[in-house]
Amino acid sequence: MGNGFFDFLNNNEKNTNDIKDMSLVVKTSRCPQNHPCPSVKVCPVNALSQQGFDAPTVDMDKCIKCGKCVKFCPMGALVLK
Ligand code: SF4
Repeated sequence: MGNGFFDFLNNNEKNTNDIKDMSLVVKTSRCPQNHPCPSVKVCPVNALSQQGFDAPTVDMDKCIKCGKCVKFCPMGALVLK
């Protein structure tokens, strides 16, 4: 049987590594592209931008993979994977 505390630490370390390897993907087919993207405003580091009403684009050099935009987009068009 595993020690719960160390299991937690190990899982936590694994999650941190997983996040490092992730990218924010914009699923353009899920975005109706007819409105100002609400997720652009919630990004704390201005990594998202939008041209007109196009689907937003992400600057992965800025993105800290916090997931705020992922939770905010009602269409599920932003995915961390
Ligand atoms: S995951 Fe966070 S940092 Fe990256 S684009 Fe979305 S809100 Fe911005």
